[in-house]
Amino acid sequence: MVKVIGGGLAGCEAAYQLAKRGINVKLYEMKPVKFSPAHNNENLAEIVCSNSFKSNLKSNACGLLKEELRMLDSLLLRVADEVKVPAGQALAVDRDLFSKRVTEEISKFSNIEIIKEEVTKIDENELTIIATGPLTSDTLYKEIKKLVKEECLHFYDAAAPIIEKSSIDMNIAFFRR
Ligand SMILES: Cc1cc2nc3c(=O)[nH]c(=O)nc-3n(C[C@H](O)[C@H](O)[C@H](O)COP(=O)(O)OP(=O)(O)OC[C@H]3O[C@@H](n4cnc5c(N)ncnc54)[C@H](O)[C@@H]3O)c2cc1C
Repeated sequence: MVKVIGGGLAGCEAAYQLAKRGINVKLYEMKPVKFSPAHNNENLAEIVCSNSFKSNLKSNACGLLKEELRMLDSLLLRVADEVKVPAGQALAVDRDLFSKRVTEEISKFSNIEIIKEEVTKIDENELTIIATGPLTSDTLYKEIKKLVKEECLHFYDAAAPIIEKSSIDMNIAFFRR
C-alpha cells in the first residue's frame, strides 16, 4: 500500500500510475474539510492557476514533455486532451471539467481509497508520496520541515501582470474561459 497525501494534480497522477499497476493506494485530500486560500471546489485535481498547460508543439521542451507524458499514459494529459479549449498552439483546458473528469477516473479504481481528511503527521515507516503542492497545510508543512531538517521551504511563483479588462482592445483580442 502506498499513501499519497494531496489529491491535486501530482497526487492524482501518482495515484493513477500506482493503481493501474495493481498497487493499493490511500489518497488523502483535505478538501472539503479544509480549503487552502486558493482552492475552492470539492473535486480532485483542481487547477488554481492558469488553465494553460503551455505549448503543445513538439519543437519545444514543454510540448515534448507533454508528448512523452502521453506515451507514458498520463491520466492528466489524457483528460486535458479530452477537455481542451481553443488556445492556438497551447494546450488549455476547461478547468471545471478537467477536475471533474480526473475525479471520475480516479473514483473508478477499486484499489484507490479516497480519504477526505487533512494529514498532519508523516509516518516514516509507511511508503508515502507527499504531493500537497505549494499550499501545503501549515501543520503538515511543519512536519515536512522536521523531516527534511530544513529551516525553510520555498515556493517561487512568477508574478503575472494584472491589467484592467476595460483597457483591452477586444477588436484584436478574444475572450475564452
Ligand atoms: C495562486 C496560485 C497561482 C498559481 N499559478 C500557476 C500558473 O499560472 N502556472 C503554473 O504552472 N502553476 C501555478 N501555480 C502552481 C500550481 O499550484 C501548480 O502548478 C499545481 O497546482 C501544483 O500541483 P500539485 O499537485 O503539486 O499541488 P495542488 O494542485 O495544489 O494539490 C495539492 C493538494 O493537496 C491538498 N492538501 C494540502 N495539504 C494537505 C494535507 N495536509 N492533507 C491532505 N491534503 C492536503 C490540497 O487541498 C490540494 O488539493 C499557482 C499556484 C498558486 C497557489
